[in-house]
Amino acid sequence: MGQIKKKDIRALTREQLRDFFVSNGDKAFRGNQVYEWLWQKSAHSFEGMTNLSRETREMLQKNFVINHIKVDQMQRSADGTIKNAVRLHDDLIVESVLIPTQTRTTACVSSQVGCSLDCKFCATARLKRMRNLNPDEIYDQVVAIDNESRLYFDRPLSNIVFMGMGEPLMNYNNVLKAIDKITSPDGLGMSPKRITVSTSGVPKMIRKMADDGVKFKLAVSLHSAIEQTRTSIMPFNATFTLVDLRESLQYWYQKTKSRITYEYVVWEGINDTQKDIDALIRFCRFAPAKINIIEYNPIDDGEFQQASNTAIEKYQRSLEANNITVTVRRSRGKDIDAACGQLANKS
Ligand code: SAH
Repeated sequence: MGQIKKKDIRALTREQLRDFFVSNGDKAFRGNQVYEWLWQKSAHSFEGMTNLSRETREMLQKNFVINHIKVDQMQRSADGTIKNAVRLHDDLIVESVLIPTQTRTTACVSSQVGCSLDCKFCATARLKRMRNLNPDEIYDQVVAIDNESRLYFDRPLSNIVFMGMGEPLMNYNNVLKAIDKITSPDGLGMSPKRITVSTSGVPKMIRKMADDGVKFKLAVSLHSAIEQTRTSIMPFNATFTLVDLRESLQYWYQKTKSRITYEYVVWEGINDTQKDIDALIRFCRFAPAKINIIEYNPIDDGEFQQASNTAIEKYQRSLEANNITVTVRRSRGKDIDAACGQLANKS
């Protein structure tokens, strides 16, 4: 009652923090100290900032909050995959996943609460978009998984994929800010080459990314290279058409020289014929690309069925015969609903 709404201190840049201290009659370097606490040491409270005087800590406490995420629940799959249910400051929940292999730990992070798009085969699409995540909420998911990787696998996080909940290109500015922090020496100092942003395909934003000269990798959830088929399973394709998408990807490659990954699920009766394969092969000629065939993770009523192994092998052989790199990826963390398209805050 009668309380002023305090500002989230992590929305401030280093410069703004330095200015804040100067305008409060203190030294600018105090801003650096606080910035380090917030970003390198992931401080959750002002009391813990032990190299600041009590007065300074109280002054910060009076003016700001630290809106840290909280890992509410952690589930471990039989295959080692870990899923975090992450509580945000306004009590909304998103999920992020740690995927271990022999040599790597990959973090799969969310960019929105719910999703703005409408892919019919995806559990997250059924939750409507509640809000975008802030840069620090994205960053914190990565830090939480880095900590878990060190704790359970004795190694730091090695890769990040934006394949959790949400459409990253519909929250582009915040995703970019989070990646800046992840790659900056002030944050985690990770190489952008180890980061992949996966999009359902928003042509305007793909062009913007190319113009912005981003250094991370691009993956596109293609699933069909036939306009009508794609619209039937991803209805937004009526607006962001394949023709538009194709042109934006050509533009991306011209500007970045970075090969694109197409994610692709093969479903029975939807995209399992030779005509579908031929369309995909043609689509791959527009810009250098590789195909990642991913396993379908059923989300409910059986409207979608993964195609037979024979159908998938046919895809694989035809693509390879046309010199297109293809990998067939098995799902991880299915037993805890942590696999692609299963993130929907079930628990
Ligand atoms: N919105 C982004 C990122 C989130 S989805 C995008 O679409 O790329 C991450 C990947 O999971 C996408 O390739 C998506 O098509 C795929 N996916 C969604 N539902 C799935 C399901 N039920 N089984 C397998 N993959 C699924």
